[in-house]
Amino acid sequence: MDIRFDDKIAIVTGAASGIGLAIARQLAASGARVVLADLDAERTEIAARNVGHGARAVVADVTKPDQVAALVACAQSETGALHLMVNNAGIGGPITPLGAYPLDAWHKVIDVNLNGVFYGMRYAIPAITSAGGGAIVNISSILGTVGFAGAGAYVATKHALLGMTKTAALDHAADGIRVNAVGPGFIHTPLVDQGLDAEAQKTLAAQHALGRMGQPDEVASLVCYLLSDHASFITGSYHLVDGGYTAQ
Ligand code: NAP
Repeated sequence: MDIRFDDKIAIVTGAASGIGLAIARQLAASGARVVLADLDAERTEIAARNVGHGARAVVADVTKPDQVAALVACAQSETGALHLMVNNAGIGGPITPLGAYPLDAWHKVIDVNLNGVFYGMRYAIPAITSAGGGAIVNISSILGTVGFAGAGAYVATKHALLGMTKTAALDHAADGIRVNAVGPGFIHTPLVDQGLDAEAQKTLAAQHALGRMGQPDEVASLVCYLLSDHASFITGSYHLVDGGYTAQ
Protein backbone atom coordinates (compact mmCIF):
# COMPACT_ATOMS: atom_id res chain seq x y z
CA MET A 1 0.00 0.00 0.00
CA ASP A 2 1.48 3.30 -1.06
CA ILE A 3 0.55 5.97 1.49
CA ARG A 4 1.19 9.51 0.21
CA PHE A 5 0.61 12.89 1.82
CA ASP A 6 1.91 15.11 -1.00
CA ASP A 7 0.72 18.73 -0.59
CA LYS A 8 -0.65 17.95 2.88
CA ILE A 9 0.25 19.92 5.99
CA ALA A 10 0.33 18.15 9.35
CA ILE A 11 0.80 19.17 12.97
CA VAL A 12 2.14 16.62 15.47
CA THR A 13 2.23 17.60 19.16
CA GLY A 14 4.84 16.15 21.49
CA ALA A 15 6.88 15.55 18.35
CA ALA A 16 10.40 16.00 19.72
CA SER A 17 10.48 12.49 21.17
CA GLY A 18 9.22 8.92 21.02
CA ILE A 19 5.99 8.15 19.19
CA GLY A 20 5.40 11.75 18.03
CA LEU A 21 8.83 11.92 16.42
CA ALA A 22 8.26 8.60 14.63
CA ILE A 23 4.89 9.86 13.33
CA ALA A 24 6.47 13.12 12.11
CA ARG A 25 9.22 11.16 10.33
CA GLN A 26 6.81 8.80 8.58
CA LEU A 27 4.49 11.64 7.54
CA ALA A 28 7.39 13.58 6.05
CA ALA A 29 8.79 10.48 4.34
CA SER A 30 5.37 10.11 2.67
CA GLY A 31 5.38 13.68 1.38
CA ALA A 32 3.71 15.74 4.13
CA ARG A 33 5.06 19.02 5.37
CA VAL A 34 5.10 18.62 9.16
CA VAL A 35 4.95 21.19 11.93
CA LEU A 36 6.48 19.66 15.04
CA ALA A 37 5.23 21.10 18.34
CA ASP A 38 6.86 20.44 21.70
CA LEU A 39 8.02 22.17 24.89
CA ASP A 40 11.76 22.55 24.43
CA ALA A 41 12.94 24.80 21.58
CA GLU A 42 16.32 23.15 20.98
CA ARG A 43 15.03 19.56 21.05
CA THR A 44 12.15 20.48 18.75
CA GLU A 45 14.48 22.24 16.27
CA ILE A 46 16.79 19.22 16.19
CA ALA A 47 13.81 16.91 15.67
CA ALA A 48 12.48 19.07 12.80
CA ARG A 49 15.89 19.02 11.09
CA ASN A 50 16.00 15.28 11.53
CA VAL A 51 12.49 14.89 10.05
CA GLY A 52 13.35 17.06 7.02
CA HIS A 53 11.11 17.71 4.00
CA GLY A 54 10.56 21.33 5.07
CA ALA A 55 9.52 20.38 8.62
CA ARG A 56 9.10 23.30 10.98
CA ALA A 57 9.57 23.44 14.76
CA VAL A 58 7.17 25.40 16.97
CA VAL A 59 7.35 25.62 20.75
CA ALA A 60 3.85 25.04 22.09
CA ASP A 61 2.59 23.82 25.44
CA VAL A 62 -0.65 21.94 24.74
CA THR A 63 -2.05 22.95 28.14
CA LYS A 64 -2.08 26.60 27.01
CA PRO A 65 -4.99 27.31 24.63
CA ASP A 66 -3.39 30.52 23.35
CA GLN A 67 -0.22 28.60 22.42
CA VAL A 68 -2.21 25.89 20.64
CA ALA A 69 -4.18 28.54 18.75
CA ALA A 70 -0.89 30.21 17.78
CA LEU A 71 0.53 26.84 16.68
CA VAL A 72 -2.39 26.28 14.30
CA ALA A 73 -2.21 29.88 13.05
CA CYS A 74 1.52 29.49 12.46
CA ALA A 75 1.02 26.29 10.45
CA GLN A 76 -1.68 28.01 8.38
CA SER A 77 0.25 31.22 7.79
CA GLU A 78 3.48 29.45 6.83
CA THR A 79 1.97 26.77 4.67
CA GLY A 80 -1.43 28.14 3.65
CA ALA A 81 -3.55 25.32 5.10
CA LEU A 82 -3.82 22.57 7.67
CA HIS A 83 -5.06 19.09 6.74
CA LEU A 84 -3.84 16.67 9.41
CA MET A 85 -3.57 16.89 13.21
CA VAL A 86 -2.01 14.37 15.56
CA ASN A 87 -2.70 15.07 19.24
CA ASN A 88 0.13 13.00 20.68
CA ALA A 89 1.66 14.99 23.58
CA GLY A 90 1.12 13.14 26.84
CA ILE A 91 2.62 12.45 30.24
CA GLY A 92 2.43 9.45 32.57
CA GLY A 93 2.08 11.01 36.01
CA PRO A 94 3.01 9.25 39.25
CA ILE A 95 2.13 5.62 40.03
CA THR A 96 0.12 6.00 43.23
CA PRO A 97 -3.11 4.37 44.43
CA LEU A 98 -6.12 6.56 43.71
CA GLY A 99 -6.90 7.02 47.41
CA ALA A 100 -3.56 8.77 47.83
CA TYR A 101 -3.17 10.33 44.37
CA PRO A 102 -1.57 13.80 44.67
CA LEU A 103 -4.05 16.48 43.61
CA ASP A 104 -1.51 18.60 41.74
CA ALA A 105 -0.37 15.56 39.69
CA TRP A 106 -4.01 14.69 38.95
CA HIS A 107 -4.65 18.16 37.52
CA LYS A 108 -1.38 18.15 35.55
CA VAL A 109 -2.12 14.81 33.86
CA ILE A 110 -5.68 15.88 33.03
CA ASP A 111 -4.37 19.17 31.69
CA VAL A 112 -1.80 17.65 29.30
CA ASN A 113 -3.51 14.41 28.27
CA LEU A 114 -7.13 15.55 28.07
CA ASN A 115 -7.38 19.35 27.95
CA GLY A 116 -4.38 19.42 25.60
CA VAL A 117 -6.16 17.14 23.13
CA PHE A 118 -9.34 19.20 23.39
CA TYR A 119 -7.40 22.41 22.62
CA GLY A 120 -5.68 20.63 19.71
CA MET A 121 -9.03 19.67 18.19
CA ARG A 122 -10.72 22.95 19.15
CA TYR A 123 -8.24 25.03 17.13
CA ALA A 124 -7.31 22.56 14.38
CA ILE A 125 -10.88 21.68 13.34
CA PRO A 126 -11.82 25.15 12.00
CA ALA A 127 -8.50 25.27 10.13
CA ILE A 128 -8.94 21.80 8.63
CA THR A 129 -12.54 22.64 7.72
CA SER A 130 -11.42 25.74 5.85
CA ALA A 131 -8.84 23.62 3.98
CA GLY A 132 -11.69 21.44 2.70
CA GLY A 133 -11.33 18.57 5.18
CA GLY A 134 -8.74 16.18 6.52
CA ALA A 135 -8.11 13.85 9.42
CA ILE A 136 -7.22 13.85 13.11
CA VAL A 137 -5.68 11.11 15.23
CA ASN A 138 -5.67 11.31 19.01
CA ILE A 139 -3.14 9.14 20.82
CA SER A 140 -4.86 7.21 23.59
CA SER A 141 -3.41 3.95 24.98
CA ILE A 142 -4.34 0.39 25.88
CA LEU A 143 -5.09 2.18 29.15
CA GLY A 144 -8.01 3.77 27.29
CA THR A 145 -9.70 0.39 27.51
CA VAL A 146 -8.30 -1.35 30.62
CA GLY A 147 -7.11 -0.10 34.01
CA PHE A 148 -3.58 -0.07 35.41
CA ALA A 149 -3.01 -0.05 39.16
CA GLY A 150 -1.65 3.27 40.39
CA ALA A 151 -2.22 5.14 37.10
CA GLY A 152 -5.67 6.57 37.87
CA ALA A 153 -5.17 9.96 36.26
CA TYR A 154 -3.51 8.56 33.12
CA VAL A 155 -6.15 5.83 32.73
CA ALA A 156 -8.96 8.38 33.22
CA THR A 157 -7.59 10.66 30.51
CA LYS A 158 -6.96 7.88 28.00
CA HIS A 159 -10.52 6.55 28.47
CA ALA A 160 -11.97 10.08 28.20
CA LEU A 161 -10.11 10.68 24.93
CA LEU A 162 -12.15 7.94 23.30
CA GLY A 163 -15.46 9.63 24.08
CA MET A 164 -14.11 12.96 22.88
CA THR A 165 -12.83 11.33 19.67
CA LYS A 166 -16.18 9.69 18.89
CA THR A 167 -18.07 12.92 19.53
CA ALA A 168 -15.72 15.02 17.40
CA ALA A 169 -16.11 12.48 14.59
CA LEU A 170 -19.91 12.86 14.74
CA ASP A 171 -19.74 16.64 15.04
CA HIS A 172 -17.41 17.10 12.07
CA ALA A 173 -18.09 14.30 9.59
CA ALA A 174 -20.08 16.79 7.51
CA ASP A 175 -17.01 19.06 7.41
CA GLY A 176 -15.02 16.27 5.75
CA ILE A 177 -12.97 15.56 8.87
CA ARG A 178 -12.36 12.01 10.12
CA VAL A 179 -11.34 11.65 13.77
CA ASN A 180 -9.90 8.45 15.23
CA ALA A 181 -7.97 7.30 18.29
CA VAL A 182 -5.02 4.94 18.53
CA GLY A 183 -4.27 2.77 21.56
CA PRO A 184 -0.63 1.68 21.76
CA GLY A 185 0.59 -1.03 24.11
CA PHE A 186 3.82 -0.36 25.99
CA ILE A 187 6.25 1.20 23.53
CA HIS A 188 10.00 1.78 23.88
CA THR A 189 10.17 5.58 24.24
CA PRO A 190 11.76 7.83 26.88
CA LEU A 191 8.37 7.90 28.70
CA VAL A 192 8.70 4.16 29.42
CA ASP A 193 12.44 3.48 29.10
CA GLN A 194 13.43 6.24 31.54
CA GLY A 195 10.45 5.74 33.85
CA LEU A 196 10.80 2.00 34.48
CA ASP A 197 13.76 -0.17 35.51
CA ALA A 198 14.82 -3.21 33.47
CA GLU A 199 12.92 -5.68 35.66
CA ALA A 200 9.66 -3.71 35.33
CA GLN A 201 10.14 -3.50 31.55
CA LYS A 202 10.67 -7.28 31.37
CA THR A 203 7.47 -7.88 33.33
CA LEU A 204 5.51 -5.51 31.09
CA ALA A 205 6.95 -7.01 27.91
CA ALA A 206 5.69 -10.44 29.00
CA GLN A 207 2.14 -9.07 29.30
CA HIS A 208 1.95 -8.57 25.52
CA ALA A 209 0.97 -11.70 23.60
CA LEU A 210 3.93 -11.10 21.30
CA GLY A 211 6.24 -11.17 24.36
CA ARG A 212 7.78 -7.75 23.80
CA MET A 213 7.08 -4.04 23.93
CA GLY A 214 6.49 -2.18 20.69
CA GLN A 215 8.57 0.33 18.75
CA PRO A 216 7.47 3.90 17.95
CA ASP A 217 7.44 3.16 14.21
CA GLU A 218 4.91 0.36 14.74
CA VAL A 219 2.50 2.96 16.17
CA ALA A 220 3.38 5.57 13.53
CA SER A 221 2.47 3.16 10.70
CA LEU A 222 -1.08 2.79 12.06
CA VAL A 223 -1.41 6.55 12.63
CA CYS A 224 -0.31 7.29 9.06
CA TYR A 225 -2.76 4.73 7.68
CA LEU A 226 -5.63 6.33 9.62
CA LEU A 227 -4.62 9.80 8.41
CA SER A 228 -4.45 8.66 4.80
CA ASP A 229 -7.15 8.33 2.16
CA HIS A 230 -6.83 4.54 2.47
CA ALA A 231 -8.84 4.96 5.70
CA SER A 232 -11.57 7.02 4.01
CA PHE A 233 -14.44 5.02 5.64
CA ILE A 234 -12.91 4.97 9.14
CA THR A 235 -14.01 7.57 11.66
CA GLY A 236 -15.01 7.77 15.33
CA SER A 237 -13.17 4.59 16.22
CA TYR A 238 -10.37 3.33 18.43
CA HIS A 239 -7.55 1.24 16.99
CA LEU A 240 -5.18 -0.84 19.09
CA VAL A 241 -1.54 -1.44 18.27
CA ASP A 242 -0.71 -3.46 21.36
CA GLY A 243 0.96 -6.76 20.53
CA GLY A 244 -2.07 -8.57 21.94
CA TYR A 245 -1.94 -6.92 25.42
CA THR A 246 -5.71 -6.45 25.63
CA ALA A 247 -6.58 -9.74 23.89
CA GLN A 248 -6.03 -11.67 27.14
P1 NAP B 1 7.68 10.83 25.18
O1 NAP B 1 8.79 10.11 24.52
O2 NAP B 1 7.84 11.31 26.59
O3 NAP B 1 7.24 12.03 24.24
C1 NAP B 1 6.23 12.91 24.61
C2 NAP B 1 6.62 14.30 24.20
O4 NAP B 1 5.55 15.19 24.57
C3 NAP B 1 7.89 14.79 24.91
O5 NAP B 1 8.76 15.43 24.01
C4 NAP B 1 7.32 15.77 25.93
O6 NAP B 1 8.22 16.82 26.29
C5 NAP B 1 6.14 16.34 25.17
N1 NAP B 1 5.20 17.02 26.05
C6 NAP B 1 4.91 16.76 27.35
N2 NAP B 1 4.05 17.66 27.84
C7 NAP B 1 3.79 18.51 26.82
C8 NAP B 1 3.00 19.69 26.70
N3 NAP B 1 2.31 20.16 27.75
N4 NAP B 1 2.95 20.31 25.51
C9 NAP B 1 3.65 19.87 24.45
N5 NAP B 1 4.45 18.78 24.51
C10 NAP B 1 4.51 18.11 25.68
O7 NAP B 1 6.35 9.92 25.23
P2 NAP B 1 5.77 8.84 24.21
O8 NAP B 1 5.90 7.52 24.85
O9 NAP B 1 6.28 9.05 22.83
O10 NAP B 1 4.22 9.20 24.30
C11 NAP B 1 3.53 9.87 23.27
C12 NAP B 1 2.05 9.60 23.46
O11 NAP B 1 1.81 8.19 23.38
C13 NAP B 1 1.50 10.05 24.82
O12 NAP B 1 0.21 10.59 24.66
C14 NAP B 1 1.44 8.75 25.60
O13 NAP B 1 0.47 8.78 26.62
C15 NAP B 1 1.06 7.78 24.49
N6 NAP B 1 1.37 6.39 24.78
C16 NAP B 1 2.64 6.00 25.04
C17 NAP B 1 2.88 4.66 25.32
C18 NAP B 1 4.26 4.14 25.61
O14 NAP B 1 4.36 3.00 26.09
N7 NAP B 1 5.32 4.88 25.34
C19 NAP B 1 1.82 3.75 25.33
C20 NAP B 1 0.54 4.20 25.06
C21 NAP B 1 0.31 5.52 24.79
P3 NAP B 1 9.13 16.64 27.63
O15 NAP B 1 9.98 15.43 27.37
O16 NAP B 1 9.87 17.93 27.67
O17 NAP B 1 8.16 16.42 28.76
